[in-house]
Amino acid sequence: MYRALDAALAAVEAAPPLARAAVLITAALVGALGFALLSVAYERAAYAGYAFLERLGLIDRLIPGITPTATDYQKETFRAFVFSLWPALLLIFYNLRPLLACAAPDWNPLTVLAGVWVLSILHDPWFWAVHATLHRFKPLYRKIHHQHHDHPWGDMSLHQTADMHFVEAFALTMGFYAACLVLALNLWGSWNPVLFYAYIAVEANMNMGGHCGYHMPAWLQLLVTAGVGNTPWSASSLTHYIHHLDPSKNRALYFTWVDKLAGTYRASHPKIKPIADPVEYNRRPLRLAAKLIAARWGA
Ligand SMILES: [Zn+2]
Ligand SMILES: [Zn+2]
Repeated sequence: MYRALDAALAAVEAAPPLARAAVLITAALVGALGFALLSVAYERAAYAGYAFLERLGLIDRLIPGITPTATDYQKETFRAFVFSLWPALLLIFYNLRPLLACAAPDWNPLTVLAGVWVLSILHDPWFWAVHATLHRFKPLYRKIHHQHHDHPWGDMSLHQTADMHFVEAFALTMGFYAACLVLALNLWGSWNPVLFYAYIAVEANMNMGGHCGYHMPAWLQLLVTAGVGNTPWSASSLTHYIHHLDPSKNRALYFTWVDKLAGTYRASHPKIKPIADPVEYNRRPLRLAAKLIAARWGA
């Protein structure tokens, strides 16, 4: 399959410049549409997954009195992904042959886990700096970041995650992904697609967790963030949610140390109902399993 793809790419490279440009632009457009649809579907599935866990009684909302809605966030997500991915994919497709030739998949779970953790640490100050800049400079805030904060307070849900201007999507995440590829190619002459996609999934899950509106138990955090959200100084689902209540605080994504150093960290908010018994909260799946087994075997 790789050979067929390489032959097709070689044919595109040998084509006249105009035909080549037309193929690249079409491929980038189709790719961006496809990824945008995939992102919306992933967000929708995660939204349904959290709602299902809530119905099972395994997770509680941060502000119980408020019903989250999907409103039209998904339209915004789709738009942000199409426009931010399009230039990134154009660059990638332009360099696809060398990128594919340098891909070195490594499935070792320890390598992938360590890589995800290192990339999260590297991405955090990047995310904080871009995010803080978007808040600090008012014209940038009004023209770009305001869209992400512009929601009637109360119905914020996981769908808010990618409801942002496409420039912001590129600056916060797509630009970092592209920089990682360029850095890996220059440092090692290769890149690990398994790590690359695992990292993007963890980043997306961490970001969706910050908007989902639920207290995240340790087992769920472990499941969706591969342990990044369970490490010391990591951000919880509360951290970014508080940012939407108090935008001057909590501008990092994965950890709290950058905000703590910058003096922009906030750990609680009066609108958010704290978990009464964290041990009981983490043990709810065991209690549910025991109840199901007891019902099944008539104990
Ligand atoms: Zn947000
Ligand atoms: Zn913000």
